Amino acid sequence: MLDLQKIRADFPILSQKVNGKPLVYFDNGATSQKPQVVIDAIAKYYQEINANIHRGVHTLSQLATDAYELSRGKIQHHINAKHAHEVLFTSGTTHGVNLVANGFASLLKSGDEVLVSALEHHSNIVPWQMLCERTGASLKVIPMNEKGELILSVFDELLSEKTKIVTVNHISNALGTINPIKYIIDKAHEFDAVVFIDGAQAVPHLKPDVQALDCDFYAFSGHKMCGPTGTGILYGKEAWLNKLPPYQGGGEMIKEVTFEKTTYADLPHKFEAGTPNIAGGIVLGTAVDYMNEIGFENIQAQELALLEYGTQRLSEIEGLRIYGTSENKTSVISFNIDGIHPYDIGTIIDKLGIAVRTGHHCAQPIMNFFEIPGTIRASFSFYNTKEEIDSLVEAVKKAKMMLS
Ligand SMILES: *Cc1c(COP(=O)(O)O)cnc(C)c1O
Repeated sequence: MLDLQKIRADFPILSQKVNGKPLVYFDNGATSQKPQVVIDAIAKYYQEINANIHRGVHTLSQLATDAYELSRGKIQHHINAKHAHEVLFTSGTTHGVNLVANGFASLLKSGDEVLVSALEHHSNIVPWQMLCERTGASLKVIPMNEKGELILSVFDELLSEKTKIVTVNHISNALGTINPIKYIIDKAHEFDAVVFIDGAQAVPHLKPDVQALDCDFYAFSGHKMCGPTGTGILYGKEAWLNKLPPYQGGGEMIKEVTFEKTTYADLPHKFEAGTPNIAGGIVLGTAVDYMNEIGFENIQAQELALLEYGTQRLSEIEGLRIYGTSENKTSVISFNIDGIHPYDIGTIIDKLGIAVRTGHHCAQPIMNFFEIPGTIRASFSFYNTKEEIDSLVEAVKKAKMMLS
């Protein structure tokens, strides 16, 4: 079991009061809080080694480059990528999706198909839609059922020789469903389709093994896994990264530039134009170390306990409906109360110090499926407690009384 008191002490923000009440932070699906080691590592970088990377022969530039590449190596091992150069630093999941979707513009043609799932975040829908508009390919949707699970029999039927790309999230941000991505990857590969996995909601809870999964791309954000905002990773198989054209042109991504012809740098630099978020990239490695020290088994055990307790306690409230009831889900509870707008509940419980997300969670198609404007989403992290869930339940009961 985790020593929660000790872990909570690692996160200075958690001991704050908000609106005069102890903060209960249940918006981890939007961004996680940061432990002191991460906050300190950012300051240390700027205090001690700040310099541009891959450019100077001077000592600080070398130190900064080494730290940046060390972090890339850590992340490579964390996700079990075969090569460090398959691990690209990005500004986040959104950047990763756009990089790949843009790259396919020259590889897709009219009549090709891109399969997305009904459970996607807008950032894993819109770039593919834009790709389809540019190329004349069509977008097909893998539907979901009432429990918030993908309907695999329909997925099987949608797959054909026309399918070029299948893109699906590992875990749904709006409902918490853990998708059967291994099945999806293997099936798609039978048709030689490329598989892109949006891992934004998975990496805070588990350690993906990209080689075991055999996915072609896997993208995630640093800020949802204890790291800084504006950081992220795009993993891509070497062969695909070599095949795709660069996303942005600029410094760092070239071998040789003349006005007649420019040749591109080798991986990973081909996709890392310009000065990146150096401090962020380095500190993302610190965040990964921190989570590994706690241990993903411990993280999962604590989060599962919170999910079970939260589901049971919230279900006591009359008129409360939970959306996303798959047996395979992470510590996310999306809910509504009969006849009350989610925004109104969110506003009242904020006054009681409780931070939840209300709205469509950048997943409007899911809200349309359930014919609701949005939900209240409580997303738990390993540093949350059962006592905090009790506070949430009391607050929701109070809000319900005030509003009905
Ligand atoms: C948060 C999230 C994204 C977008 O991540 P950014 O950090 O905003 O780029 C994409 N997909 C899912 C499932 C998410 O939860």
